[in-house]
Amino acid sequence: MVNQYVCKVCGYNIIGSIPHKCPFCGCNRSHFITATECSDLYCLTEKRISKKILMLKTKPKLGLSHAAYAVETLNGEVWVDCPACFENNTRMPKAICFTHHHFMGACNLYQRESCCEVYIQEEELQFSIAKPFLPTITHVMTGNFWAYCELQALRIAGHTPGFTVFFLDDVCFCCDIVLLDNKKGDSLNTFSSSKEEVVEAVKHLIFECDNRGVNLICAYNSTFDYHEWRERTQRLLD
Ligand SMILES: [Zn+2]
Ligand SMILES: [Zn+2]
Repeated sequence: MVNQYVCKVCGYNIIGSIPHKCPFCGCNRSHFITATECSDLYCLTEKRISKKILMLKTKPKLGLSHAAYAVETLNGEVWVDCPACFENNTRMPKAICFTHHHFMGACNLYQRESCCEVYIQEEELQFSIAKPFLPTITHVMTGNFWAYCELQALRIAGHTPGFTVFFLDDVCFCCDIVLLDNKKGDSLNTFSSSKEEVVEAVKHLIFECDNRGVNLICAYNSTFDYHEWRERTQRLLD
């Protein structure tokens, strides 16, 4: 069993030993539990978003309560990002595709159990919090790609250097580059890059969504009708 700890404030999984403070959210070490305790205390819930898509979240709410999405393709189930909590009796993916390194969750534990493929952009692996996951990654990507023939990955950067969004039919998975429905109100996510970089990437994202006739946005904690998302996001760019 690997030594693995989960921050209850943000949900980040730390492989190795408990850090003095969380390298992701900065909280102190008293907020960490072991991954085994995490599996005992939390479970995964599924919410159907469309015929091919389920939203996976931890229950009760863990950390930022980010969503991962399970996408049904002709070649098997692909996850976009990974839940923070490992649940053994649950569905298992054939592949996990990451938008970026912030939401890698318990991917190493799911990978060990299912032997699934794991895709992430090369630039995301330069960060110290992502490095312990390196043995888990089966596909280090360097640009746009197709996963399981149906899920199209487009690297737009902006939020992180290798930030990647995914498209399936008329759905776009764009994780946390834009934060809507926060207590603080709508905002662009400048947690790890400059506003200019995020603005440029979001403009690119809107251009692609318009071109592809996107109707639904699957974001880091909820889903949005594209036209509502576009209107609210556009206001942040003006
Ligand atoms: Zn944390
Ligand atoms: Zn992020």
